[in-house]
Amino acid sequence: MHLPFCVRKCPYCSFYSFRASEEEMVLYLDALEVELAIWKDLCGRLPGVNTLYLGGGTPTVLPPRLWERLMSLLDGALDFGPCLEGTVEANPGSLSPDHLHIFKEWRINRLSVGVQSFDDHELSWLARPYDRHQAIEAIERSVSAGFAVSVDLLFGLYGQTLRKWHESVALALALGVSHLSTYQLTLEPGTPWGSSPPEGLPDGYPFYRWVQWYLEKKGFIQYEIASFSLPGKWCCHNLAYWHGGNVLGLGAGAWSYLEGLRFGNVNSYSSYMDSIAKRALPIAFRERLDDEKRAREAAVLALRTCWGISTRNFVRKYGLDYTSKILSLIGNFPEECLVVRKGRVALSKKGRRVANALWADII
Ligand code: SF4
Repeated sequence: MHLPFCVRKCPYCSFYSFRASEEEMVLYLDALEVELAIWKDLCGRLPGVNTLYLGGGTPTVLPPRLWERLMSLLDGALDFGPCLEGTVEANPGSLSPDHLHIFKEWRINRLSVGVQSFDDHELSWLARPYDRHQAIEAIERSVSAGFAVSVDLLFGLYGQTLRKWHESVALALALGVSHLSTYQLTLEPGTPWGSSPPEGLPDGYPFYRWVQWYLEKKGFIQYEIASFSLPGKWCCHNLAYWHGGNVLGLGAGAWSYLEGLRFGNVNSYSSYMDSIAKRALPIAFRERLDDEKRAREAAVLALRTCWGISTRNFVRKYGLDYTSKILSLIGNFPEECLVVRKGRVALSKKGRRVANALWADII
């Protein structure tokens, strides 16, 4: 579920989000309730879910009072599975003790905190609306409240050195997080920094290579290209994407994938509200993947994970012809980029570092 509200816009961000009034948030929650009701009518029953991910934007910009409203509407609109993983994305500046309290009382057991850095200079350069002290406090509170906590950290920032990168990653571990997502700063088209890129950014490769080495030493598993966790603490929701599971996205700008059909909701608050007012699904894009494209995408997604492709399962799902074709493309990758073991093919650590260059050969 996409909650597209932020305190202000970060100069590198290409997600759909904006600064909303409380009234706009209230109306948005009403619209989400209608969208869920439309899905219920289409399914003929309450949609069943195993994982729930409330992302943004900055969902914790929503005040606790509105979170209570959101939770009660979700309780009435979804059929929650027994082993639900419930994640909320949070930002250190807006995650309050009241948020933690109501999350804990409800179905939320995991927090993904968009820290990005624990260095004050880097945070102010990124225009993040909080400082190191608030970031530390937010993580400490979340961990001691009993949530599984993930933090997002960025590398390739202006003035960032390997020493500073080490300090941020080591501090996250010292605070007790069980999951880290690390990303290189990217300058997306259509963002202020995409149009006018900052100069002097360091090469991200050594930062990524270092974090692979360091986190493994600390007992973390790199279970996906950007994701590291303690054993068993992976994000089940994201694994559903990488394993080609069905995902229903709700809200403005949310994406869904259902049995080979990919579709996206309109990326605008007002168009989303207009559509919902007519009781129509706010879908702006849809694409039916043919069998071969489905197989190729599934191969790329599986290779993102440490489990890679199980040849036997892949043949069963996509047929021998596509599997052979894809495996022969993968066979052309440099040998040091692959690990082939027990009927599985996966990327090596080196392969993950150059993965973006490899995907083009499969897609
Ligand atoms: S807080 Fe996150 S979603 Fe909001 S503008 Fe910044 S990067 Fe984008």
